[in-house]
Amino acid sequence: MSGQTHAGRVKEITATSNPIVKEIKGLALKKNRDAEGLFIAEGLQLVTFALESGWRARSLIYAKRMAGHEHLMQVAAKARAAGTDILEVSEKVLGVIARRDNPQMVIGVFEQQWHDPLTIAKSAGKPGNVIVALDRVRDPGNLGTIIRTADAVGASAVLLVGECTDPYSMEAVRATMGSVFNVALSRIDAIDFDEFKAAFPGRIAGTHLGGSVDYRSIAYGSDPWCLLMGNEQQGLPSILAEACDSLVHIPMAGRAESLNLAIATGVMLFEMRRDHLTMGEIASDGGKQA
Ligand code: SAM
Repeated sequence: MSGQTHAGRVKEITATSNPIVKEIKGLALKKNRDAEGLFIAEGLQLVTFALESGWRARSLIYAKRMAGHEHLMQVAAKARAAGTDILEVSEKVLGVIARRDNPQMVIGVFEQQWHDPLTIAKSAGKPGNVIVALDRVRDPGNLGTIIRTADAVGASAVLLVGECTDPYSMEAVRATMGSVFNVALSRIDAIDFDEFKAAFPGRIAGTHLGGSVDYRSIAYGSDPWCLLMGNEQQGLPSILAEACDSLVHIPMAGRAESLNLAIATGVMLFEMRRDHLTMGEIASDGGKQA
């Protein structure tokens, strides 16, 4: 092996029956994503951000009519030099890959990244750091929204506990709005959560409808925290609830029995990170023109 990176191939594809198209289209299925370790992300802005952040793209696919787009051509040339295959395709092919009408004109096929949970735990000691742990999250929209929110508050990782929906499904990736490329993802079995706890240098707050602590009464301060959220239908099982240092409740009025999982996660994260989020410099007009 020379250790050299070979430039990716450049291909023009118009037939939806092309085997490369079939292979990429197949990534809509979890079993194929798992087998290949790949996933699809849509949109030039997102693909550019991913490549600039060091994610490896297996293929970069764009509509033929975008061939003169200056920024795209620069991105494609750089990606190709790093070994990414470049596919110039018909809009019909893009629609088949994205599984929708009016697809984005640029699509990237990226390699999944999974981080070791114990490494994540051990390296979470920074003051004010938060890790979000999700017990058997089922809904891809919820998961994508939580990854986006975790990114927004500067959480260091999202840990999937037990059998969760796939963060690399197209629906979840869309809901992250690009944050999937900015938050470390990890996974662990519920039975091994104690190992994570032992390696984690902070405290664990579990959210529970039966929790006895008002979530606003904790001084989250500069300690590292792990926020543990329960499954959409069943809430936290006792094996995980028992691992928590506090079980907190978000008080509610009205008739709702509980909050949506992603909303509850957002409420918690902004409270936990309250002292660490700043407005930055405000314009002399108070930001009225923004
Ligand atoms: N029937 C479920 C239960 O008994 O927990 C409701 C689950 S709720 C839709 C999903 C998750 O969001 C819960 O497991 C919990 O982690 C969190 N959650 C939602 N509303 C909450 C609240 N008011 N207080 C604390 N946690 C809440």
